[in-house]
Amino acid sequence: MLYHSTRNKEFYVDSAEAVLEGLAPDGGLYMPRELPAFDWKKCLTGTSQQMSSMILSALLPDISDMDDLVAKAYTGKFETEALTPTVPVGENFVLELFRGPTSAFKDVALSMLPQLLTAAKSLKNEKKDILILTATSGDTGKAALVGFQDVPGVRICVFYPDGGVSQVQRAQMVTQEGSNVAVCAVKGNFDDAQTGVKQIFTQCQGKELPFSLSSANSINIGRLAPQVMYYFRSYRDLLDAGKIKLGDRVNFSVPTGNFGDILAGYLAKRLGLPVGTLICASNANNVLTDFIRTGTYDRRRPLLKTTSPSMDILVSSNLERLLYLLSGDTALVADLMEKLRQDGAYTVPDSLKEAIQKEFWAGCCDDARAAKVMGRVYKEQGYLCDPHTAAGFAAAEDYAAATGDQTPLVILSTASPYKFPAAVLSAIGGDTSGDEFQQMDRLHEITGVPIPTPLATLRGKQERHTDVIEKEKMLDYVMSL
Ligand SMILES: *Cc1c(COP(=O)(O)O)cnc(C)c1O
Repeated sequence: MLYHSTRNKEFYVDSAEAVLEGLAPDGGLYMPRELPAFDWKKCLTGTSQQMSSMILSALLPDISDMDDLVAKAYTGKFETEALTPTVPVGENFVLELFRGPTSAFKDVALSMLPQLLTAAKSLKNEKKDILILTATSGDTGKAALVGFQDVPGVRICVFYPDGGVSQVQRAQMVTQEGSNVAVCAVKGNFDDAQTGVKQIFTQCQGKELPFSLSSANSINIGRLAPQVMYYFRSYRDLLDAGKIKLGDRVNFSVPTGNFGDILAGYLAKRLGLPVGTLICASNANNVLTDFIRTGTYDRRRPLLKTTSPSMDILVSSNLERLLYLLSGDTALVADLMEKLRQDGAYTVPDSLKEAIQKEFWAGCCDDARAAKVMGRVYKEQGYLCDPHTAAGFAAAEDYAAATGDQTPLVILSTASPYKFPAAVLSAIGGDTSGDEFQQMDRLHEITGVPIPTPLATLRGKQERHTDVIEKEKMLDYVMSL
Protein backbone atom coordinates (compact mmCIF):
# COMPACT_ATOMS: atom_id res chain seq x y z
CA MET A 1 0.00 0.00 0.00
CA LEU A 2 1.41 3.34 -0.98
CA TYR A 3 1.38 6.52 1.01
CA HIS A 4 1.72 9.93 -0.59
CA SER A 5 2.03 13.52 0.57
CA THR A 6 -1.24 15.35 1.29
CA ARG A 7 0.17 18.07 -0.99
CA ASN A 8 1.40 16.07 -3.97
CA LYS A 9 0.68 12.50 -5.10
CA GLU A 10 4.10 12.31 -6.79
CA PHE A 11 5.78 12.14 -3.40
CA TYR A 12 4.98 8.55 -2.46
CA VAL A 13 6.58 5.84 -0.33
CA ASP A 14 5.52 2.53 1.22
CA SER A 15 4.05 2.41 4.71
CA ALA A 16 7.34 1.53 6.45
CA GLU A 17 9.11 4.45 4.80
CA ALA A 18 6.23 6.76 5.77
CA VAL A 19 6.77 5.83 9.44
CA LEU A 20 10.52 6.24 9.13
CA GLU A 21 10.38 9.64 7.41
CA GLY A 22 7.52 11.21 9.39
CA LEU A 23 7.02 14.21 7.13
CA ALA A 24 6.94 14.15 3.30
CA PRO A 25 9.73 16.08 1.55
CA ASP A 26 7.33 18.87 0.48
CA GLY A 27 6.18 19.43 4.07
CA GLY A 28 2.94 17.48 3.52
CA LEU A 29 1.74 14.60 5.69
CA TYR A 30 1.67 11.00 4.50
CA MET A 31 -1.71 9.46 3.72
CA PRO A 32 -2.64 6.11 2.17
CA ARG A 33 -3.55 6.34 -1.51
CA GLU A 34 -6.74 4.53 -0.61
CA LEU A 35 -8.01 3.03 2.60
CA PRO A 36 -7.94 -0.78 2.61
CA ALA A 37 -11.02 -3.01 2.72
CA PHE A 38 -11.42 -3.92 6.38
CA ASP A 39 -13.44 -6.55 8.23
CA TRP A 40 -14.63 -4.21 10.98
CA LYS A 41 -17.06 -6.71 12.45
CA LYS A 42 -14.30 -9.25 12.93
CA CYS A 43 -12.10 -6.57 14.46
CA LEU A 44 -14.75 -5.94 17.12
CA THR A 45 -14.52 -9.53 18.36
CA GLY A 46 -10.87 -9.34 19.45
CA THR A 47 -9.05 -8.22 22.58
CA SER A 48 -7.71 -4.66 22.58
CA GLN A 49 -4.32 -5.94 21.46
CA GLN A 50 -5.87 -8.00 18.67
CA MET A 51 -7.91 -4.99 17.54
CA SER A 52 -4.77 -2.90 17.51
CA SER A 53 -2.83 -5.50 15.54
CA MET A 54 -5.57 -5.93 12.96
CA ILE A 55 -5.98 -2.19 12.41
CA LEU A 56 -2.23 -1.53 12.24
CA SER A 57 -1.68 -4.42 9.82
CA ALA A 58 -4.36 -2.95 7.56
CA LEU A 59 -2.96 0.58 7.69
CA LEU A 60 0.76 -0.31 7.70
CA PRO A 61 0.85 -3.56 5.68
CA ASP A 62 4.62 -3.45 5.02
CA ILE A 63 5.39 -3.92 8.70
CA SER A 64 5.15 -7.60 9.64
CA ASP A 65 4.88 -9.44 12.98
CA MET A 66 2.35 -6.90 14.17
CA ASP A 67 1.05 -9.19 16.96
CA ASP A 68 4.54 -9.25 18.50
CA LEU A 69 5.03 -5.52 18.16
CA VAL A 70 1.67 -4.79 19.77
CA ALA A 71 2.41 -7.20 22.65
CA LYS A 72 5.78 -5.53 23.25
CA ALA A 73 4.14 -2.11 23.25
CA TYR A 74 1.28 -2.77 25.62
CA THR A 75 1.58 -5.95 27.68
CA GLY A 76 1.75 -5.11 31.38
CA LYS A 77 2.17 -1.38 30.75
CA PHE A 78 -1.42 -0.22 31.23
CA GLU A 79 -3.69 -0.42 34.26
CA THR A 80 -5.99 -2.89 32.48
CA GLU A 81 -5.57 -5.32 29.62
CA ALA A 82 -8.50 -3.52 27.96
CA LEU A 83 -5.95 -0.63 27.75
CA THR A 84 -8.71 1.97 27.33
CA PRO A 85 -11.87 1.21 29.39
CA THR A 86 -15.25 2.84 28.74
CA VAL A 87 -17.31 3.70 31.83
CA PRO A 88 -20.92 4.93 32.12
CA VAL A 89 -21.33 8.49 33.42
CA GLY A 90 -24.93 9.74 33.65
CA GLU A 91 -26.66 9.20 30.31
CA ASN A 92 -23.35 9.08 28.45
CA PHE A 93 -20.08 7.15 28.51
CA VAL A 94 -16.47 8.13 29.09
CA LEU A 95 -13.64 6.44 27.23
CA GLU A 96 -10.67 6.62 29.59
CA LEU A 97 -7.49 7.02 27.58
CA PHE A 98 -5.28 7.86 30.54
CA ARG A 99 -4.71 4.42 32.06
CA GLY A 100 -1.20 4.11 30.63
CA PRO A 101 2.29 4.55 32.09
CA THR A 102 2.25 8.39 32.19
CA SER A 103 -1.49 8.96 32.86
CA ALA A 104 -2.00 10.84 29.58
CA PHE A 105 -3.77 9.69 26.44
CA LYS A 106 -0.56 10.06 24.41
CA ASP A 107 0.59 6.79 25.97
CA VAL A 108 -1.64 4.78 23.60
CA ALA A 109 0.25 6.08 20.57
CA LEU A 110 3.69 6.62 22.07
CA SER A 111 3.89 3.09 23.46
CA MET A 112 3.39 1.76 19.93
CA LEU A 113 5.40 4.23 17.83
CA PRO A 114 8.85 2.97 18.98
CA GLN A 115 7.92 -0.58 17.93
CA LEU A 116 6.73 0.60 14.52
CA LEU A 117 9.78 2.78 14.06
CA THR A 118 12.32 0.07 14.91
CA ALA A 119 10.47 -2.45 12.71
CA ALA A 120 10.48 0.03 9.82
CA LYS A 121 14.16 0.74 10.45
CA SER A 122 15.19 -2.88 10.15
CA LEU A 123 12.93 -3.39 7.13
CA LYS A 124 14.62 -0.48 5.37
CA ASN A 125 18.03 -1.71 6.47
CA GLU A 126 18.73 1.59 8.18
CA LYS A 127 21.89 0.95 10.21
CA LYS A 128 22.26 4.28 11.96
CA ASP A 129 20.67 4.98 15.31
CA ILE A 130 17.56 7.11 15.22
CA LEU A 131 17.61 10.19 17.41
CA ILE A 132 14.12 11.31 18.43
CA LEU A 133 14.07 15.05 19.10
CA THR A 134 11.03 16.50 20.83
CA ALA A 135 10.05 19.83 22.32
CA THR A 136 7.29 19.44 24.87
CA SER A 137 4.88 21.63 26.78
CA GLY A 138 4.52 18.77 29.24
CA ASP A 139 2.67 15.59 28.29
CA THR A 140 4.26 14.46 25.01
CA GLY A 141 7.78 14.55 26.46
CA LYS A 142 7.14 12.10 29.26
CA ALA A 143 5.01 9.74 27.17
CA ALA A 144 7.75 9.68 24.49
CA LEU A 145 10.51 9.09 27.07
CA VAL A 146 8.68 6.10 28.51
CA GLY A 147 7.83 4.74 25.07
CA PHE A 148 11.41 4.95 23.81
CA GLN A 149 13.23 4.08 27.04
CA ASP A 150 15.91 1.43 26.31
CA VAL A 151 14.54 0.69 22.82
CA PRO A 152 17.62 -0.61 20.92
CA GLY A 153 18.85 1.53 18.03
CA VAL A 154 16.95 4.61 19.17
CA ARG A 155 17.93 7.54 21.36
CA ILE A 156 15.64 10.29 22.56
CA CYS A 157 16.22 13.88 23.62
CA VAL A 158 13.41 15.98 25.09
CA PHE A 159 13.56 19.76 25.52
CA TYR A 160 11.09 21.51 27.80
CA PRO A 161 10.72 25.21 28.67
CA ASP A 162 12.46 26.00 31.97
CA GLY A 163 9.70 26.95 34.42
CA GLY A 164 7.10 26.36 31.70
CA VAL A 165 5.76 22.94 32.70
CA SER A 166 3.90 21.91 35.84
CA GLN A 167 5.72 20.59 38.90
CA VAL A 168 4.41 17.07 38.30
CA GLN A 169 5.26 17.17 34.59
CA ARG A 170 8.82 18.28 35.38
CA ALA A 171 9.19 15.58 38.02
CA GLN A 172 7.93 12.98 35.54
CA MET A 173 10.59 13.96 33.00
CA VAL A 174 13.67 14.67 35.11
CA THR A 175 13.38 11.36 36.98
CA GLN A 176 13.23 9.34 33.74
CA GLU A 177 15.41 6.25 33.72
CA GLY A 178 16.97 4.61 30.68
CA SER A 179 20.39 4.49 29.03
CA ASN A 180 19.23 6.18 25.80
CA VAL A 181 17.36 9.20 27.15
CA ALA A 182 18.27 12.87 27.60
CA VAL A 183 16.07 15.59 29.08
CA CYS A 184 17.06 19.25 29.10
CA ALA A 185 15.41 22.52 30.16
CA VAL A 186 15.66 25.46 27.77
CA LYS A 187 15.66 29.07 28.99
CA GLY A 188 12.61 30.35 27.13
CA ASN A 189 9.02 29.38 26.48
CA PHE A 190 7.56 26.40 24.63
CA ASP A 191 7.70 28.21 21.28
CA ASP A 192 11.43 28.85 21.79
CA ALA A 193 12.01 25.16 22.49
CA GLN A 194 9.93 24.10 19.49
CA THR A 195 11.57 26.62 17.17
CA GLY A 196 14.95 25.37 18.39
CA VAL A 197 14.05 21.78 17.54
CA LYS A 198 12.79 22.76 14.08
CA GLN A 199 16.04 24.64 13.44
CA ILE A 200 18.07 21.58 14.40
CA PHE A 201 16.14 19.55 11.80
CA THR A 202 16.82 22.21 9.14
CA GLN A 203 20.49 22.61 10.08
CA CYS A 204 21.06 18.86 9.98
CA GLN A 205 19.36 18.31 6.64
CA GLY A 206 21.71 16.79 4.06
CA LYS A 207 24.57 16.55 6.60
CA GLU A 208 26.45 13.29 7.25
CA LEU A 209 25.57 12.58 10.88
CA PRO A 210 26.10 9.53 13.09
CA PHE A 211 22.31 9.27 13.56
CA SER A 212 19.16 10.01 11.62
CA LEU A 213 16.75 12.47 13.15
CA SER A 214 13.10 11.79 13.72
CA SER A 215 10.28 13.25 15.78
CA ALA A 216 7.60 11.80 18.02
CA ASN A 217 4.79 14.19 17.24
CA SER A 218 1.50 13.36 15.65
CA ILE A 219 2.43 14.27 12.10
CA ASN A 220 3.89 10.74 11.93
CA ILE A 221 1.36 8.19 10.65
CA GLY A 222 2.97 5.71 13.05
CA ARG A 223 1.68 7.81 15.90
CA LEU A 224 -1.76 8.40 14.45
CA ALA A 225 -2.62 4.83 13.40
CA PRO A 226 -2.41 3.26 16.92
CA GLN A 227 -5.16 5.62 18.08
CA VAL A 228 -7.83 4.07 15.84
CA MET A 229 -8.05 1.04 18.13
CA TYR A 230 -9.80 2.68 21.06
CA TYR A 231 -12.84 3.73 19.00
CA PHE A 232 -13.36 0.04 18.20
CA ARG A 233 -12.73 -0.92 21.83
CA SER A 234 -15.29 1.58 23.09
CA TYR A 235 -17.89 0.50 20.52
CA ARG A 236 -17.38 -3.10 21.59
CA ASP A 237 -17.77 -2.15 25.26
CA LEU A 238 -21.13 -0.52 24.50
CA LEU A 239 -22.16 -3.67 22.61
CA ASP A 240 -21.15 -5.91 25.53
CA ALA A 241 -23.04 -3.69 27.97
CA GLY A 242 -26.18 -4.04 25.85
CA LYS A 243 -26.31 -0.30 25.18
CA ILE A 244 -26.26 -0.67 21.38
CA LYS A 245 -26.81 -3.36 18.73
CA LEU A 246 -24.22 -4.17 16.09
CA GLY A 247 -24.54 -1.56 13.37
CA ASP A 248 -26.02 1.19 15.60
CA ARG A 249 -24.25 4.49 15.38
CA VAL A 250 -22.28 6.01 18.24
CA ASN A 251 -21.21 9.67 18.55
CA PHE A 252 -17.86 10.66 20.07
CA SER A 253 -16.90 13.97 21.71
CA VAL A 254 -13.15 14.53 21.51
CA PRO A 255 -11.02 17.13 23.37
CA THR A 256 -8.93 18.37 20.47
CA GLY A 257 -5.58 20.09 19.96
CA ASN A 258 -3.54 18.91 17.00
CA PHE A 259 -6.55 17.02 15.56
CA GLY A 260 -4.85 13.61 15.80
CA ASP A 261 -7.21 11.99 18.29
CA ILE A 262 -10.40 12.98 16.47
CA LEU A 263 -8.93 12.15 13.05
CA ALA A 264 -8.29 8.61 14.32
CA GLY A 265 -12.04 8.48 14.99
CA TYR A 266 -12.73 9.48 11.41
CA LEU A 267 -10.32 6.80 10.17
CA ALA A 268 -12.21 4.26 12.31
CA LYS A 269 -15.36 5.37 10.52
CA ARG A 270 -13.72 5.02 7.11
CA LEU A 271 -12.66 1.49 8.10
CA GLY A 272 -16.35 0.70 8.62
CA LEU A 273 -17.04 1.33 12.33
CA PRO A 274 -20.56 2.84 12.68
CA VAL A 275 -19.39 6.21 14.00
CA GLY A 276 -22.04 8.96 13.93
CA THR A 277 -21.04 12.56 14.54
CA LEU A 278 -17.54 13.40 15.73
CA ILE A 279 -17.76 16.36 18.10
CA CYS A 280 -14.61 18.49 18.11
CA ALA A 281 -14.19 20.05 21.56
CA SER A 282 -11.86 23.03 22.01
CA ASN A 283 -11.02 25.34 24.90
CA ALA A 284 -10.89 29.16 24.59
CA ASN A 285 -8.41 28.66 21.73
CA ASN A 286 -11.33 27.93 19.44
CA VAL A 287 -9.76 28.12 15.97
CA LEU A 288 -11.24 24.73 15.08
CA THR A 289 -14.73 25.62 16.32
CA ASP A 290 -14.75 28.64 14.03
CA PHE A 291 -13.35 26.62 11.16
CA ILE A 292 -15.87 23.79 11.36
CA ARG A 293 -18.74 26.26 11.68
CA THR A 294 -17.68 28.72 8.95
CA GLY A 295 -15.15 27.03 6.65
CA THR A 296 -12.56 29.73 7.43
CA TYR A 297 -9.42 28.76 9.33
CA ASP A 298 -7.85 31.83 10.91
CA ARG A 299 -4.85 31.54 13.20
CA ARG A 300 -4.40 35.32 13.45
CA ARG A 301 -5.35 35.63 17.10
CA PRO A 302 -3.43 35.51 20.40
CA LEU A 303 -2.70 32.09 21.89
CA LEU A 304 -4.45 31.99 25.27
CA LYS A 305 -3.06 30.09 28.27
CA THR A 306 -5.80 27.90 29.71
CA THR A 307 -6.27 25.20 32.36
CA SER A 308 -6.23 22.65 29.50
CA PRO A 309 -2.72 23.38 28.13
CA SER A 310 -2.56 20.36 25.79
CA MET A 311 -5.26 22.03 23.69
CA ASP A 312 -3.61 25.47 23.62
CA ILE A 313 -2.81 25.46 19.96
CA LEU A 314 -3.46 27.66 16.93
CA VAL A 315 -2.31 25.39 14.10
CA SER A 316 -3.77 21.87 14.20
CA SER A 317 -1.41 19.93 11.96
CA ASN A 318 -3.57 16.86 11.36
CA LEU A 319 -6.45 18.90 10.00
CA GLU A 320 -4.46 18.82 6.76
CA ARG A 321 -5.11 15.07 6.60
CA LEU A 322 -8.85 15.59 6.92
CA LEU A 323 -8.85 18.22 4.16
CA TYR A 324 -7.18 15.67 1.92
CA LEU A 325 -9.44 12.76 2.93
CA LEU A 326 -12.61 14.73 2.23
CA SER A 327 -11.49 16.46 -0.97
CA GLY A 328 -9.03 13.95 -2.47
CA ASP A 329 -7.41 17.05 -3.98
CA THR A 330 -3.70 17.44 -3.19
CA ALA A 331 -3.40 20.65 -5.21
CA LEU A 332 -6.18 22.22 -3.15
CA VAL A 333 -4.53 21.12 0.11
CA ALA A 334 -1.13 22.49 -1.02
CA ASP A 335 -2.79 25.79 -1.88
CA LEU A 336 -4.64 26.06 1.46
CA MET A 337 -1.48 25.23 3.44
CA GLU A 338 0.47 27.86 1.52
CA LYS A 339 -2.25 30.43 2.33
CA LEU A 340 -2.02 29.44 6.00
CA ARG A 341 1.75 29.93 5.93
CA GLN A 342 1.65 33.26 4.11
CA ASP A 343 -1.57 34.88 5.36
CA GLY A 344 -2.31 32.93 8.54
CA ALA A 345 -5.76 32.03 7.19
CA TYR A 346 -7.66 30.16 4.47
CA THR A 347 -11.24 29.40 3.44
CA VAL A 348 -12.24 26.03 2.02
CA PRO A 349 -14.67 25.68 -0.92
CA ASP A 350 -18.34 25.30 0.09
CA SER A 351 -18.45 21.67 -1.03
CA LEU A 352 -15.59 20.81 1.33
CA LYS A 353 -17.14 22.79 4.17
CA GLU A 354 -20.37 20.83 3.73
CA ALA A 355 -18.49 17.53 3.65
CA ILE A 356 -16.80 18.45 6.95
CA GLN A 357 -20.07 19.52 8.56
CA LYS A 358 -21.68 16.24 7.59
CA GLU A 359 -19.16 14.34 9.73
CA PHE A 360 -18.14 16.84 12.43
CA TRP A 361 -19.74 19.24 14.87
CA ALA A 362 -17.72 21.70 16.94
CA GLY A 363 -18.01 23.31 20.35
CA CYS A 364 -15.71 25.17 22.73
CA CYS A 365 -15.59 26.09 26.37
CA ASP A 366 -13.53 28.56 28.40
CA ASP A 367 -11.85 27.86 31.75
CA ALA A 368 -14.77 29.15 33.82
CA ARG A 369 -17.22 26.82 32.05
CA ALA A 370 -14.77 23.90 32.27
CA ALA A 371 -14.59 24.45 36.04
CA LYS A 372 -18.40 24.50 36.30
CA VAL A 373 -18.63 21.32 34.26
CA MET A 374 -16.02 19.51 36.41
CA GLY A 375 -17.88 20.60 39.56
CA ARG A 376 -21.28 19.53 38.24
CA VAL A 377 -20.17 16.18 36.78
CA TYR A 378 -18.51 15.37 40.11
CA LYS A 379 -21.49 16.45 42.21
CA GLU A 380 -24.22 14.91 40.06
CA GLN A 381 -22.52 11.82 38.62
CA GLY A 382 -19.71 11.25 41.13
CA TYR A 383 -17.20 11.29 38.27
CA LEU A 384 -13.97 13.25 38.56
CA CYS A 385 -12.61 14.55 35.24
CA ASP A 386 -9.73 16.79 34.18
CA PRO A 387 -10.09 20.18 32.40
CA HIS A 388 -9.47 18.70 28.91
CA THR A 389 -12.19 16.10 29.41
CA ALA A 390 -14.47 18.85 30.75
CA ALA A 391 -14.29 20.53 27.34
CA GLY A 392 -15.48 17.23 25.86
CA PHE A 393 -18.44 17.17 28.27
CA ALA A 394 -19.31 20.80 27.49
CA ALA A 395 -19.25 20.31 23.72
CA ALA A 396 -21.38 17.18 24.09
CA GLU A 397 -23.97 19.17 26.09
CA ASP A 398 -24.03 21.93 23.50
CA TYR A 399 -24.40 19.38 20.72
CA ALA A 400 -27.35 17.72 22.44
CA ALA A 401 -29.01 21.09 23.04
CA ALA A 402 -28.44 22.23 19.44
CA THR A 403 -29.49 19.04 17.66
CA GLY A 404 -31.61 16.94 20.03
CA ASP A 405 -29.66 13.94 18.71
CA GLN A 406 -30.36 10.90 20.92
CA THR A 407 -27.55 8.70 19.52
CA PRO A 408 -25.42 7.10 22.29
CA LEU A 409 -22.47 9.34 23.05
CA VAL A 410 -18.94 8.64 24.26
CA ILE A 411 -16.75 11.41 25.67
CA LEU A 412 -13.02 10.76 25.31
CA SER A 413 -11.09 11.46 28.50
CA THR A 414 -7.54 12.47 27.67
CA ALA A 415 -5.88 12.98 31.05
CA SER A 416 -6.10 11.86 34.66
CA PRO A 417 -7.57 14.56 36.91
CA TYR A 418 -4.44 14.14 39.05
CA LYS A 419 -2.33 15.72 36.31
CA PHE A 420 -4.15 19.02 36.89
CA PRO A 421 -4.86 18.92 40.63
CA ALA A 422 -5.22 22.68 41.24
CA ALA A 423 -7.82 23.24 38.52
CA VAL A 424 -9.76 20.13 39.56
CA LEU A 425 -9.62 20.93 43.30
CA SER A 426 -10.80 24.45 42.74
CA ALA A 427 -13.66 23.19 40.53
CA ILE A 428 -14.99 20.89 43.24
CA GLY A 429 -14.62 23.52 45.96
CA GLY A 430 -11.40 22.21 47.54
CA ASP A 431 -8.54 24.22 49.01
CA THR A 432 -5.77 24.74 46.43
CA SER A 433 -2.93 25.78 48.74
CA GLY A 434 0.41 23.97 48.79
CA ASP A 435 2.42 22.39 46.01
CA GLU A 436 1.04 20.02 43.38
CA PHE A 437 1.87 16.93 45.41
CA GLN A 438 -0.01 18.31 48.41
CA GLN A 439 -2.90 19.18 46.10
CA MET A 440 -2.92 15.61 44.76
CA ASP A 441 -3.15 14.26 48.31
CA ARG A 442 -5.98 16.63 49.15
CA LEU A 443 -7.87 15.71 45.99
CA HIS A 444 -7.53 12.09 46.99
CA GLU A 445 -8.69 12.75 50.57
CA ILE A 446 -11.80 14.56 49.33
CA THR A 447 -12.80 12.22 46.50
CA GLY A 448 -11.31 8.84 47.36
CA VAL A 449 -10.37 8.43 43.67
CA PRO A 450 -7.05 6.52 43.60
CA ILE A 451 -3.95 8.46 42.54
CA PRO A 452 -2.45 6.67 39.49
CA THR A 453 0.62 4.74 40.62
CA PRO A 454 3.05 6.44 38.16
CA LEU A 455 2.12 9.82 39.70
CA ALA A 456 1.94 8.62 43.31
CA THR A 457 5.45 7.15 43.14
CA LEU A 458 7.12 10.26 41.68
CA ARG A 459 7.75 11.91 45.01
CA GLY A 460 11.25 11.47 46.28
CA LYS A 461 12.49 9.82 43.07
CA GLN A 462 16.01 10.75 42.14
CA GLU A 463 16.38 13.65 39.66
CA ARG A 464 18.62 12.42 36.85
CA HIS A 465 18.36 15.21 34.30
CA THR A 466 19.16 18.66 35.61
CA ASP A 467 20.69 20.38 32.55
CA VAL A 468 19.42 23.89 31.80
CA ILE A 469 20.71 25.62 28.65
CA GLU A 470 20.29 28.82 26.64
CA LYS A 471 18.05 28.33 23.62
CA GLU A 472 20.94 29.15 21.27
CA LYS A 473 22.83 26.10 22.61
CA MET A 474 20.31 23.42 21.66
CA LEU A 475 22.19 22.21 18.58
CA ASP A 476 25.47 21.99 20.55
CA TYR A 477 23.64 20.01 23.18
CA VAL A 478 22.33 17.52 20.65
CA MET A 479 25.75 17.12 19.03
CA SER A 480 27.31 16.40 22.42
CA LEU A 481 24.95 13.49 23.13
C1 LIG B 1 -2.44 15.91 23.26
C2 LIG B 1 -3.64 16.08 24.12
C3 LIG B 1 -4.90 16.48 23.59
C4 LIG B 1 -5.08 16.82 22.13
O1 LIG B 1 -5.01 15.72 21.27
P1 LIG B 1 -4.76 15.93 19.71
O2 LIG B 1 -4.57 14.59 19.14
O3 LIG B 1 -3.53 16.79 19.60
O4 LIG B 1 -5.98 16.63 19.18
C5 LIG B 1 -5.98 16.59 24.45
N1 LIG B 1 -5.85 16.35 25.78
C6 LIG B 1 -4.68 15.98 26.33
C7 LIG B 1 -4.60 15.76 27.80
C8 LIG B 1 -3.55 15.81 25.52
O5 LIG B 1 -2.39 15.44 26.09
